Amino acid sequence: MTFPNFPAQLQQCRNLSGGVWEDASNLPQREVLSPYNGRVIGSVPLSDSGTVDKIVRAAQAAWPQWRNLSVRNRAEVLQKFRHLALESMPRLIDSVAVESGKTRVEAEAGLQKGLEITEFAISLPNLEQMNSLEVSQGVYCQFRREALGVVAGITPFNFPAMVPLWMIPLALIAGNAFILKPSEKVPLTSQILGELLIKSGLPAGVFSIVNGAAEAVDALVSHPEVKAVGFVGSTAVASHVYQKGTAAGKRVLALGGAKNHIIVTPDCDLEMSARGILSSFTGCAGQRCMAASVLVAVGQVDHVLNRVCELAAGHVLGRDMGAIIDSASLLKIRNAVVQAEKQGAKIVLDGRPALPENKDFQSGFWIGPTVIDHAAAGMECAEMEIFGPVLTVIRVNSLEEAVQLSNRSVYGNAASVFTTRGDVAQYVAAHSNAGMIGVNVGVPVPREPFSFGGTKLSRFGHGDITGRSGLDFWSDLKKVTTAWPSLNSAAPKTAGQFLLHTT
Ligand code: NAD
Repeated sequence: MTFPNFPAQLQQCRNLSGGVWEDASNLPQREVLSPYNGRVIGSVPLSDSGTVDKIVRAAQAAWPQWRNLSVRNRAEVLQKFRHLALESMPRLIDSVAVESGKTRVEAEAGLQKGLEITEFAISLPNLEQMNSLEVSQGVYCQFRREALGVVAGITPFNFPAMVPLWMIPLALIAGNAFILKPSEKVPLTSQILGELLIKSGLPAGVFSIVNGAAEAVDALVSHPEVKAVGFVGSTAVASHVYQKGTAAGKRVLALGGAKNHIIVTPDCDLEMSARGILSSFTGCAGQRCMAASVLVAVGQVDHVLNRVCELAAGHVLGRDMGAIIDSASLLKIRNAVVQAEKQGAKIVLDGRPALPENKDFQSGFWIGPTVIDHAAAGMECAEMEIFGPVLTVIRVNSLEEAVQLSNRSVYGNAASVFTTRGDVAQYVAAHSNAGMIGVNVGVPVPREPFSFGGTKLSRFGHGDITGRSGLDFWSDLKKVTTAWPSLNSAAPKTAGQFLLHTT
């Protein structure tokens, strides 16, 4: 099936507070549009600081019950959640696709990645078994992972399920009460996640949803009872959240935007490279922080560029590529192409006239794959995060020049190289200053337990958002050092005496 199933009726989002769904119809509402056809599919309340405060206090009251459970008991709840999410996969896929404009295949991939993190969280009881060591005779050191309390996650539009699931399982397994502030552009899937978490047996109030925009974010980030904030979104807002949150004494990890470079060398495998580059810049219609945005062509690689354009030209909108989130983003992408032309670059593949064949969807927000060749460092298309299916090509003469160009970016999420030479791959891995490196991989998202995170303006704070690093972010490690009287002197003389002493 090409297009997702649309909900039969408008979806009215609610806040989830203390385990109760609250209709929040007293709050101002914002329409939710489907990028597929630009039509209204629901509405979302814009919570104010009073609403945020109420939700935080309910979470605070619920937290001790969850913290006091064993990790194994918490893992059982997440196991049930995973099971329910798999059962609800078709519904989740449709929801993600309809509200974010992804194809169903892309929606499913994001959900699977979210469940991979859930599996990692579930494995925690086994992962942490080596946390105690006899450091000298009769003296033991032990790590105890302690929850922080009420924590919050603020998420972007481009992965309605996956990015919330980068945070929810790790924060919950660590024993926190978690409040999600989903993107107001894609709030519908979070409602399903909330439903499934409640059904999994999570105590009321341990998972909450506060819908809204800037006011809700600011209220969460400055609330005294919110101990840590995970943020994923644009660099401007990541920087704002990081500064506001850390000034209020909170732990903050805020992931920002990106401008990822793919380096192609003449020795690369043609088909593997062309397909890897294509899926990197067109996947999710270029709306992902790991998308290739600049192709750095080292020497004579026209055969690769031609093949990328040939494959991209065959893309069918709605089948191979989804839509752009809204009209403002579409305009920004189109303007970036116009600007590139004005600055002297050449549009070798122009996706601007493209529309899906299905007339019902032509009112949506669409653009086909677009390739801008002969760009130069400093041009807007070479520096700015366009966040659309646009690949900017810059030609250089050497690998060193290519890596220097990539490293000059203010962002540092990902960088890839396509090559069949080990020394070329090693050079890029060693010298790139991005956080995630791909060798013949166009979207180098590390699989769990390898953690996800960038550098420079792509990340504010320390550590990564997934893997053990994510777990460390949502918890404190308490160190307990214990000494016992010597075994010989303290030993009960008989088994009977031991029982007497302990009853
Ligand atoms: P965004 O920054 O506009 O919104 C993200 C969140 O911040 C939303 O929940 C939104 O409600 C809130 N927000 C928006 N403006 C705010 C303001 N002025 N004050 C307080 N809160 C505000 O981002 P987006 O457009 O939803 O998502 C796309 C961006 O996210 C891109 O830049 C992309 O690169 C980035 N992103 C980064 C990663 C990563 O891992 N680094 C992953 C996914 C997306």
